[in-house]
Amino acid sequence: MTVRRVVVIGTGVIGLNVGLRLLAQGMQVEFVDPSAPGSGCSHGNAGVIAVDAAVPIGMPSMLTGAAGFLLRQQGPIVVKPAYFVKALPWLIRFLLACRPHRVEQISRALHSIARFALEDYERLFCELRIEDDIRRTGALMLYHSPASFAGAQAAIGLRRRRGANIEILDERHVRDMEPDVGPVHKGLYFPDYASLDSPALLCRRLADRATELGAAFHRVAADSIAVAHGRPRAIRCDDGRELSLDDAAVVVAAGAFSRRLAADVGCDIPLDTERGYHVEIENPGIRFSRPVLVSDGAFFASTMQGRLRLAGTVEIAGLERSPDWRRADAMVERARAAFPRLRAAQWTRWMGFRPSVPHSLPVIGASTVVSNAYVACGHGHLGMTLGAVTGALVADAILGREPKLDPRPFAPRAMRAVGGARTGPKAQPAPAIR
Ligand SMILES: Cc1cc2nc3c(=O)[nH]c(=O)nc-3n(C[C@H](O)[C@H](O)[C@H](O)COP(=O)(O)OP(=O)(O)OC[C@H]3O[C@@H](n4cnc5c(N)ncnc54)[C@H](O)[C@@H]3O)c2cc1C
Repeated sequence: MTVRRVVVIGTGVIGLNVGLRLLAQGMQVEFVDPSAPGSGCSHGNAGVIAVDAAVPIGMPSMLTGAAGFLLRQQGPIVVKPAYFVKALPWLIRFLLACRPHRVEQISRALHSIARFALEDYERLFCELRIEDDIRRTGALMLYHSPASFAGAQAAIGLRRRRGANIEILDERHVRDMEPDVGPVHKGLYFPDYASLDSPALLCRRLADRATELGAAFHRVAADSIAVAHGRPRAIRCDDGRELSLDDAAVVVAAGAFSRRLAADVGCDIPLDTERGYHVEIENPGIRFSRPVLVSDGAFFASTMQGRLRLAGTVEIAGLERSPDWRRADAMVERARAAFPRLRAAQWTRWMGFRPSVPHSLPVIGASTVVSNAYVACGHGHLGMTLGAVTGALVADAILGREPKLDPRPFAPRAMRAVGGARTGPKAQPAPAIR
């Protein structure tokens, strides 16, 4: 073991899991983040632990449907026209990743990591004695028309090829499981999926545990990572401070804001953001026993701490534009159609920046250019799911241990010039709930 001290940039679910794994091995850990732990994207997601995830966001059907993302501006997936030119390189890579042979490769790699998701969380939850925070109720996906169910066949085939446990349900069975669902054509049940009652609470618990184990939290933003002679030397913070990295390792886990920092340590990550929204409805008059995906609307409905959370949709609009709350409100309209007994008089709204790479595979591992530097970002739609297993992979890399899965599909790509592509905005405070 070469280092004893590790500085983790970012205290979302990914950074916290990385730090906790290292603390458990007796390492000294410091976190750098301007915001409270778990207040970024990890705060407001749907809390689904998609145990055997095997379907990338980019599927072959998107090669023909791509124009619709620009034209249907209030549809569930949209590219904002004003951001289109900036997003173009990412979108081209995304479309290339939709080719059938790439989808098959990506699916295999995704499954190779997602199959450890629950196992690693359960070990962590047991250690923290919070086993009740995870609900092993499975998840349900709803299809409201024969056409939408036909559109799901490619994804079903992909999951089946990876050995996923799926049951196809007719309307009666769907309603037996979830009586508050309205008329539906078909349902898909994923019995192995799990979910969290509160993703934000999980992050708080992880941060509390890290504090108990001696971690320090620096409430500043990392502006850049200074590198000298192939090693990280210091983190330059936005308040002018420099955090020394002599003899320490650094892990970039700043979610959607990781690109510039990763570039500093020689990693070229084609990271952008797929913004997503949630609304939370108090006293909704309906309740679900498990997360229910309304496929046509691309959002999950989950009962969380007594409230109904609708979370999802995809908006490619970068890190700097203000939220378009009409997208959040549109989920309420779609939910009214899917759940006729829903009472929605008022709701709170939230937007989060999914850290997304075009090929749907997280980027996890050591820089090949700068020693003692690691990245863990790009988890897109699966960051909650892959938190614990990512923590294990990064800890294995730092401690020089054999990982339990092949890490190569997730390895960061080297940049031609270290720090040569310092593009993308700096950290922003987490968007406020209104
Ligand atoms: C609507 C929605 C629903 C979702 N549902 C699910 C789901 O059901 N299941 C699932 O698995 N995933 C889901 N996701 C995805 C998941 O939420 C993310 O993949 C995950 O939260 C990413 O975690 P992270 O730690 O990488 O990023 P974040 O949680 O965003 O954390 C990054 C942290 O880095 C900090 N930071 C940024 N810049 C700097 C800097 N310069 N210096 C220091 N710190 C910095 C930020 O303040 C933040 O705290 C959903 C996402 C959305 C938007």
